[in-house]
Parts: sequence; structure tokens; C-alpha cells
Amino acid sequence: MRLNREQLNLIQEKMGVDKLWSYSKVGTFDQCTWLYKLKYIDKIRVKGDNCWTWWGSASHEIMQDWYDKKFNEYIEMAGVLEKKVIEYSLIADKKYHFPDDNQWKNYIANIRHYFANTEIIPFNVINERAVLAVFQGIEKYVFQGYLDSEFVDAEGNLVIMDYKTSSISGFTGQDLIKKARQLIIYAIGVSQHGRMIDGEMRQFPIDKIKVRYDMMKYVNVTFMQKNGNIKVTKAERRNWVGHMATQLRKDLEDIPKDIEKCEKEIKKLERKYNAKVRTEDEKRELEPLIKEQYDRQAYLENYVFDEEKVAELIEQACTSNELTCMPPFIQEKYTVGNCYIDVELTPEVIEECRTELVATLDQITLKSKKGVDTEEAFDRSRIENSDSYYCVNLCDMKDHCKHYKEFKQHNEMFLMEKKPPSDQELLSLLGLG
Ligand code: SF4
Repeated sequence: MRLNREQLNLIQEKMGVDKLWSYSKVGTFDQCTWLYKLKYIDKIRVKGDNCWTWWGSASHEIMQDWYDKKFNEYIEMAGVLEKKVIEYSLIADKKYHFPDDNQWKNYIANIRHYFANTEIIPFNVINERAVLAVFQGIEKYVFQGYLDSEFVDAEGNLVIMDYKTSSISGFTGQDLIKKARQLIIYAIGVSQHGRMIDGEMRQFPIDKIKVRYDMMKYVNVTFMQKNGNIKVTKAERRNWVGHMATQLRKDLEDIPKDIEKCEKEIKKLERKYNAKVRTEDEKRELEPLIKEQYDRQAYLENYVFDEEKVAELIEQACTSNELTCMPPFIQEKYTVGNCYIDVELTPEVIEECRTELVATLDQITLKSKKGVDTEEAFDRSRIENSDSYYCVNLCDMKDHCKHYKEFKQHNEMFLMEKKPPSDQELLSLLGLG
């Protein structure tokens, strides 16, 4: 539930501050100080939506409606998605279109797979509840935000879950800690103020809070390797089988080797069985083991395929993105689940986040003080080609940005310089004009 202006004012008053902070403000400053100025000092308003923000909100909405029990049957979720696909296809505004058709097809194939296969959390999931977090720097900072979803798991941990339809790149190591800063702030807030669970206020110290991303476009594929180790690999939903093709080919090609193993095991057991010293009781114990190996051998022999058939099966599985054409023991080997990424909330991670956040907030506060020349205080260095991706592709304020204008002009000039000479210029250059 989103808080209204009066409720936010009440919080402000109760906390004794003259404003509340949102993570998007800090995130904007970190992204580009000039962007912060345009948005929050000059208060230029633009509608920054695009295809990804549209689908991000639509996917959140469907998940939240499911957990809020707005529809009852799991199967309905895929139907609700299809309604969204129709709604989206009717949008004429080009800014909502994907850069190319392939990107759209891949994106929606992943999302369709998610809503047809996502794991249902077996706990009471609450969505969009407000959270506050307080930090002390040169002044008191009160953050206010919303948790996508939260629930208490079987171990009594409060799990903060965020749904992401973006790419998985950068969701590891130190980059993950940076990306998760918003959720870490919320976790700190939960540890400060507790959480209302089933009508009762409960406290959750940091070690009882989990921060998790559900990367909607991906699955975790879990399988056992030959050496007995369990391996988990991440793959895009739309072609997770294709991602496993090499492993699947190996599984099929290994079947004759598994039969050989059975034969060896049978020989070994039969030798034991026929040994002179074997008692009748011992023989009775060995009989089912020998039978088991014979049965397994006979079973596996049904699945010995030549090279051509192996290629055909792999192609069929990849095209359908399912393992139903594979032998049952290969199907059972693979478990496909949601791609969750957990952020480990160690004391160091919490401290690092707190320190960086307060430093950023202090900087913004000092730069925004009355009398400070904000034009100078929030200025940034010129945009270079190497750091232009965000400006060119994602910044919703670029049409109002002097740095972007200069960057464009510079690039246009560069292109003009690179233009081949006209026929007349060429003749002049050669002294023929
Ligand atoms: S275009 Fe680049 S430099 Fe300009 S406001 Fe946006 S992010 Fe900042």
C-alpha cells in the first residue's frame, strides 16, 4: 500500500525531520550528480518510462496480485500475462517499443516461462509494505521505501524479496552488494523498527533477515555430475534446455558406458554368489542385487541411440525447451527452479553500505545548502564515449542536459571530420579542381 501525502507528513513530523529520503534520490546522485540537479533541484519533470519499466511494473503487478489472492488458480497467472501482452501491443507510443523485434521475442519468452512455471512461495507473502530506515550523518536522515514482497520463512527469517526482469549480469560479488544497496537499507530499517507479522510487532536482528532477488528471466538448473557433486547453473528461461545441450548429449552418449558398468557389476556379484564359501543365506541376500543390475541393464538398453538419434533428441528437446522426449532417468536428473540470488548480510556489508550511504547523503546535503551555487556543486565531467551508455540509452533527462548536448555535438563534428571528401573536394586535393 502506497502512503499518501498526509501519511508521509505524519511520519516526517513523528521522526522530527523536514523531509523523507527515497532510494531513487541517492541512486540518481550516484549515477550522475548533474542528473540529480536536473531532477531534484531544478525539478524538471519527464516521463521516463520505457519498455523495460513497463514490463517490470506489469510483472510485479501480476506477482503481487497472485499473492494478494486477486485470482485463485495458478493457471490463471499465465492468462493474466496474456492480457498484459495484448495491452502492451496496443501501445502506439514508440518509446515503449523494444529496440528490435528479437529483444522483444526473447524477453517475452522468458517472462511467459516464468509465469507458467514460477515456484509458489509456501508462506504468507505480503506485498508493497512501507519501510523506514534512519541514519545519522551531519543530520538525521529518514528513508522511506516499499518492499516488493516479504514473508517469514520456516526458520523464522524475514525474507525481503525483490523481483527483477533485468539481465543477471552484475549480480555477483562486489557489484551485487552495490546493486543491493536499496534492499540492504530496507533490511537495516526492518532491524531498527521491527515488522508487523499477523497483527503482532516482531523484531528481526540483521542475522534473521534475508535479502533476495528473484531474477524472473532466469532459472537455476540443478543436476548431479558424474563425480556425484551437485551443480547449479543459471540459464535464461526461454532456452534453458539449449543451455544444457552439451550435458544432455553427454548423458545420452554415456548410456552404453552405464550398461558396461552394469555388466561389470553383474559379473562381480555373480562371482561372489558362486564362490564355494558362500552360504545359502548370503546367496539369498545377493539375489535381489543381481536382479536389480540385470533389470537396470535391460532398462538402459531401451535407450541406446545412434549418433543421428542423439542429435534428433537434442534438437527436439531444445526446440520445445522441455525434456519430455528424453529418457525418464535423464528427465529426473535435472531440477529447474526460480533463479534466486541472495545477498549475504555480513556485518562488513552492512557497515560498508551505511558508511557509503551517509557519505552520499552528507554530500547531497552540503551541495544543496542555501547559498551554494548548485550549478557548480552538482556539475560533472564531460561525457566520454567510454561512459556514455547510460546517457545515450537510459537517461530520461538527456534532452534537458547540457553535457549530453555537448557530447552529441562533439560526436557529430567527429563524424563530419571522418566523412569522405566530396568529388569537388577530392579534385581540389589532387590539384585537379
Ligand atoms: S545525459 Fe548523462 S550527464 Fe546528462 S543528466 Fe543524464 S546521465 Fe547525467
